[in-house]
Formats: sequence, C-alpha cells, structure tokens
Amino acid sequence: MSERSGLYYHPSGVLKRVSSTNPQDHWYFDAKQSHQPYVINIDHDTADHQRLSIFVNYRIEDNAGQFIGVIGVGLSLQTVGALIENYQKRYGRDIYFVNRQGEVMLQSSQYRSAIHLQDKAGLDKAFLKVLTSPSATFSFKTSSGNMLYLNSRLVPEFDWYLIVEQVNDPASDRIETAFFINLAVALFISIVVLALAHFAVRGYHDKLETMATQDKLTGVASRQVFEFYFKQALARNKRRDETLSLVLLDIDLFKSINDAYGHEAGDRVLARVAQVIQSHVRAEDVVCRWGGEEFLVLLAGCNLHHARDITELIRAAVAGLQFHFSNQVVQMTVSAGIAEMHGDEPLGQVVERADHHLYAAKRAGRNCIMPDSDEVSPLAE
Ligand code: GH3
Ligand code: MG
Ligand code: MG
Repeated sequence: MSERSGLYYHPSGVLKRVSSTNPQDHWYFDAKQSHQPYVINIDHDTADHQRLSIFVNYRIEDNAGQFIGVIGVGLSLQTVGALIENYQKRYGRDIYFVNRQGEVMLQSSQYRSAIHLQDKAGLDKAFLKVLTSPSATFSFKTSSGNMLYLNSRLVPEFDWYLIVEQVNDPASDRIETAFFINLAVALFISIVVLALAHFAVRGYHDKLETMATQDKLTGVASRQVFEFYFKQALARNKRRDETLSLVLLDIDLFKSINDAYGHEAGDRVLARVAQVIQSHVRAEDVVCRWGGEEFLVLLAGCNLHHARDITELIRAAVAGLQFHFSNQVVQMTVSAGIAEMHGDEPLGQVVERADHHLYAAKRAGRNCIMPDSDEVSPLAE
C-alpha cells in the first residue's frame, strides 16, 4: 500500500484505492497510526473474499522517518478451517470462532447457518456471558429440551473466542464427560492455532526483515540499514574510547564486464567480490552494498593505518580472483578510498571523504587505495 498514491499493490496487479471511510480498509489506517513496527490482523483477503487470512502489516518509513506505506503478508487460514472440520466430525461437536462482537469468523463448511453468536440455537441469552469472560463453561436447556454444553476461551493473539459446544439428550451422557471432552478439544485446537499463528508471524517477520535489510544479490547489508549500524558502532566507540574507519570500494571498469560478458556475469562478479570483502572483516564490522558496484565497509575500532592494512588484503585478494566467462579467464580489480572518523562528525561527511579518496585512487590508475600513507590528508582537516 502506497501512502502517496493510496493504491493497493498485489502480485496480480493494482487491486484498489483505499479509503479512510471504508471499514474494509481500516487495517491500513490502523497500521499507519500504530507506534509498533507492525500490526497483526485477521481479515477477509481483499484479493479473494472467500479467504480468511492472518495479515502481518509492516509500516514502511523512508530515510527521514516519513511514513510512506505498508507492506503486508497474508497467511490463509484454510489450515485452521480444515482442522475445525476434522475435529467437528471426529467428536461430533460444533466448533467455531467468534470475534469480540460475537460475529462468527471461522467455522466448518458444513455449518454455515449462523453469522452471529446470538443466532446460534439456544445462545440468544447466553452469548453475553461468552463475550464478557476469557473462558466460560456452562450448560443449559435449549428450547427443544436438549442439553447444550458449551466451553469458550479467548485466543488473545487473534482476539477471537474459540467455542466448542455439544447438544445432548440429557439422559445419554454425564455432564462432566461432555465438558471434559469439550475442554480437551478446545485446548488442542487453541494450541494448534497458536502454534500456526506464531510460526506464520515469526517466519514472515524474519523474511520481511531480511528483505529490508539485506541486499538480495550479494547478501550483504542494504544501504537503508547502514546508518543504523553506523550509529550502533559510534555508541560502541564512545564506550571503548576507540575510533572507526569507513572504506568505500568500487570495482574497476565494471561496465566493460557487463558489456563484454553480459549482466549475469556482472552479477556473479558482484556476489563474489562481496564474499571476498566479507571474509576479510570481523563479525562486528559491516559490509554494505552502497551502490551498483560500490561497497561501503565499516571497520570498527580501526584507525586509518589499520583500515588500510585490511583494505590492502581485500584489494590483493580481488586482484587474485579468476573468473571464467566464455572460455576466457577474466581478472578484476577494485579501488578504495578510506576515511577515519573524527569526533562526532555525521556519517555523510565521513562517506564524502572516503568518496574523495576513492576518486583519487581511480585517477591514480585504479587497483589501489587512497590515502596511501598515514599522513592525514588535507581533506580530513
Ligand atoms: P570505474 O573504474 O571508473 O568505476 O568504472 P566502472 O565501469 O566500474 O564505472 P561506471 O560507473 O561507469 O559503471 C558501473 C557499472 O555497474 C554500470 C552499471 O550498469 C553496472 N551495475 C550497477 N549495478 C549492477 C548490478 O547489480 N549488476 C550488474 N551486472 N551490473 C551493475
Ligand atoms: Mg561506481
Ligand atoms: Mg566502478
């Protein structure tokens, strides 16, 4: 969902424009106003109204912290529907979910009569009791003279009540047994449903997080999260009274690789170079894909001298790589610019200095690192 256009984008195309006056679109405005990074809700799928899904809706902000839209993942609740159906058949019980208002949200396909708890046979008076307590157990005589045994429990993750009920001929069964089976069925379904919700949410949470923070092609950090890592490293620096350096690495004459061997070959080179960089730094350092064929590396606790030693190892390792394209052996080099952090200067300023040095390295003939001595360059002043 894009805030600017108001359009709902689905893999099948643009579905609709959301509106604050349409109750179906409330999920979007809830997520927009939320102080949490994501909001979970259960809803009929906009793309397929027959389907009920658990949605995890993430708020998306731009680099300036402005809200720009929501990205959501839906997990179909068909699995839960099938589970209910199975238990309903096996234990001869009526099993369904209602929301806080008592509307029936999920039930077996064989039992589609009621849309509200109030409409269920015999529940017209008792429904308030269900909706006002986290769990209820009661029995009463229905108008047809049968006994109805009912257990309900709130599933807080869904904000729904799970209800298990059974209508019995009063003589046929003992009350305790009916309740006991109801309770066991309710407990089992709750556990399965919660486990499903947990794994769905957790799984998509991790996937979305990876998508947002990792560059897909190379697996290194994406540019969006670099500032976050930078701030973390600064805090650590202050605590330990250390410095840090940034290294901007750019593959030399990369355009000619694409031109000569194709974009796919270029992609392979990018991924391989990223690997080489990653393998030369420590876990607390950060490798980030800064632009097309540019990588920004944060070397924690490293001054200019130390950073150059590490960068030199990377430069030499890349120069030693051999790529095979169209039966030819192709070699690759990188140039790098290094900048050591001074005081509390902003990230942009350190990157700019590294960029100036990178430019100097390119002018000096590529496959080299700048500054090439420990003397502080005039740019650093
Ligand atoms: P220099 O040594 O001056 O850096 O020369 P260069 O050719 O590396 O620099 P230039 O900026 O002219 O070209 C960069 C090229 O990188 C152009 C662009 O098509 C390519 N590129 C950017 N991103 C990708 C990518 O994801 N995959 C591939 N295959 N190529 C990319
Ligand atoms: Mg470049
Ligand atoms: Mg380049």
